[in-house]
Amino acid sequence: MAARILDGEAVAREIRREVAAGVADLLARGRARPRLAVILAGDDVASQVYVRNKLKACGEVGIESELIRLEGARDSGRTLAAVASLNEREEVDGILVQLPLPEDADPGHVLAAIDPARDVDGLHPENMGKLLQGVEGLRPCTPSGIMELLRRSEIAVEGRRAVVLGRSDIVGKPMAILLLQANATVTVCHSRTRDLAAVASGADILVAAVGRPGFVTEEMVRPEATVIDVGIHRVGSEAEAVDLFGPDSRQREAFRAGRSVLVGDVHPRRVRPVAGALSPVPGGVGPLTIACLLQNTLRAARMRRGILAAR
Ligand code: NAP
Repeated sequence: MAARILDGEAVAREIRREVAAGVADLLARGRARPRLAVILAGDDVASQVYVRNKLKACGEVGIESELIRLEGARDSGRTLAAVASLNEREEVDGILVQLPLPEDADPGHVLAAIDPARDVDGLHPENMGKLLQGVEGLRPCTPSGIMELLRRSEIAVEGRRAVVLGRSDIVGKPMAILLLQANATVTVCHSRTRDLAAVASGADILVAAVGRPGFVTEEMVRPEATVIDVGIHRVGSEAEAVDLFGPDSRQREAFRAGRSVLVGDVHPRRVRPVAGALSPVPGGVGPLTIACLLQNTLRAARMRRGILAAR
């Protein structure tokens, strides 16, 4: 039987509605509207699209936003100056530096410069430490979004075996910690893992964040497992579209028609018949990442106004 498709768009809509209600509640209490500032340094085209989507999403839930665009930036200098100036502005509740930064910039240095109370990407060392200790703080958006997807899709985590493919600071590591805190038994795999298929196929919940198109195939998936696909890539050829989606797929047609076709780290055609549940690309984890950014911005605003935010 084909996997149940986990509707990330629907869950993201639900979260956005809750955030909009939270913003309305702040205003009803006579408090200032939450405000997010996004720094976009350099000229990465994909990042420009991501940032545009984030700013649009803010508008839809009543969060004010602004973009600090640092075109042509090559190192950390102008970004650090922009962060410092945002840290000085009390009316800004959330500060987000869009990644990846330009090649010569030092992301660790830049992220550590953000006021942790306004670090809505949850990547500041203080927030990472709080995550590790299970203390209230701002959590990284993509793994938080995945936990929301699992919870709201009623997929049990407690006591299950979870395998996370990838150990990046943004996705893999925080994902493993959140699953552990939800009482899963967690294994993390990476490029040096031996016999990855044997490890992955023991998972009840498999999270793929390797950054390789169609990497996860059926031999890595236990029958009826829940598979969460974090990856996002553009399909590069018609042959690839056929391999990933099949010869009669709408994706092949779309590619032929010159439209952009996306795929994740999971091979959809080979994994769908085996998995019990699967998050699609697009429409899975992506919308949840943005929804959790909005959640974090509201949360930062509430914490800064002395109103405890519900998790
Ligand atoms: P990343 O920083 O490149 O990390 C990739 C991880 O995968 C690394 O830990 C690496 O291992 C591991 N890996 C690479 N090749 C492997 C292999 N052959 N076998 C086993 N492990 C392997 O990537 P990331 O930032 O975590 O992102 C992962 C994917 O998610 C990307 O496609 C990215 O575009 C996507 N993403 C999507 C969203 C969203 O909102 N949907 C958000 C963030 C990221 P080593 O550590 O050993 O090198």
